[in-house]
Amino acid sequence: MGNALHLFTLGRIPVYANVWFALILGFLAVNQPSLGHSLGLMAAWSASLLVHEMGHALVAQRYGLQPQILLHGIGGLCFHAPIADDRKNAFIVAAGPGLEIIFGLMILGLQTVLESTSFELLWEDQGGDAYEGTAFGSMLHWTVRFSIIWGLVNLVPLHPLDGGLLFRLWMRRKKHPIDADKITHIVSIFVGVAGVMWGMTNQYWFVVLLGGMLAYNNWEALSQLSLGHPSSRTTNNEFAEVLSTDAEAAFAANDWQEAARLAHQLRDQANTPKTLQARAFELIVLSNVALGRWDEAAGFLDHAPDNAAIREARQKIESGLDAEASDGW
Ligand SMILES: [Zn+2]
Repeated sequence: MGNALHLFTLGRIPVYANVWFALILGFLAVNQPSLGHSLGLMAAWSASLLVHEMGHALVAQRYGLQPQILLHGIGGLCFHAPIADDRKNAFIVAAGPGLEIIFGLMILGLQTVLESTSFELLWEDQGGDAYEGTAFGSMLHWTVRFSIIWGLVNLVPLHPLDGGLLFRLWMRRKKHPIDADKITHIVSIFVGVAGVMWGMTNQYWFVVLLGGMLAYNNWEALSQLSLGHPSSRTTNNEFAEVLSTDAEAAFAANDWQEAARLAHQLRDQANTPKTLQARAFELIVLSNVALGRWDEAAGFLDHAPDNAAIREARQKIESGLDAEASDGW
């Protein structure tokens, strides 16, 4: 984890933080009415970020992917072993903002209950008609705001926010991976620019900054994909060739697990030529059939070329799925 600090381990998931996270906390803490308020605000920010990343991590852990969390700057990251199954990947991505928003709603419920039963926990009588939020009250208030707003912002289709990742996975179900990536970047540019315009009109400078930065990143990624930066294209193509050779070797040696893993990596390369892409999907299907993973194989069948081997695989998958259905539920 580079020069990040290991904070603690939660249910076998290690949580790290880097210096940017500490800086953001410090930035939040200034200009608060008391030390208690500062600590409350820092706790609110940390909690909603941690819950978000735990959402990703818990699902990733269920799939046996050994997740780790890094809290950094304005966000967090959940690292885990690569996952081949796009549907499972989508669950991991959606679980972050999902759990964060649920958490925010739960704290909102708690706040509402306390408001009506133990008002003085949340508000301090300043004399006359004036009330000021207690440190605890402001902590709850900010936890609700951060969790719900940040959770929703993360669902916007703006790569690499969670919504952008989900959009890309969704596009990959119907499009060639390169086209799916291009569409994702184009949509992200529009969303980012719309965010900049909205932020400027409403004077939300943070939104202007975030939207502008991400729109620019997507612009860069798109131009790499569309024009193919000469040097990056060569190296990517060479890398694809190496992956392809390794995948074929593993497949020939009946190492299905390794062949499927390498083929997934190959199809994920942005600049893999279409012929190699097609072969990658074919290897994924054939390896998974050999492993008896019918569901996984079926998921990639439509991307594979229509040839004798694939037609035979299709029959095996169908009878395999039928057999599963009859001895299952
Ligand atoms: Zn996330």
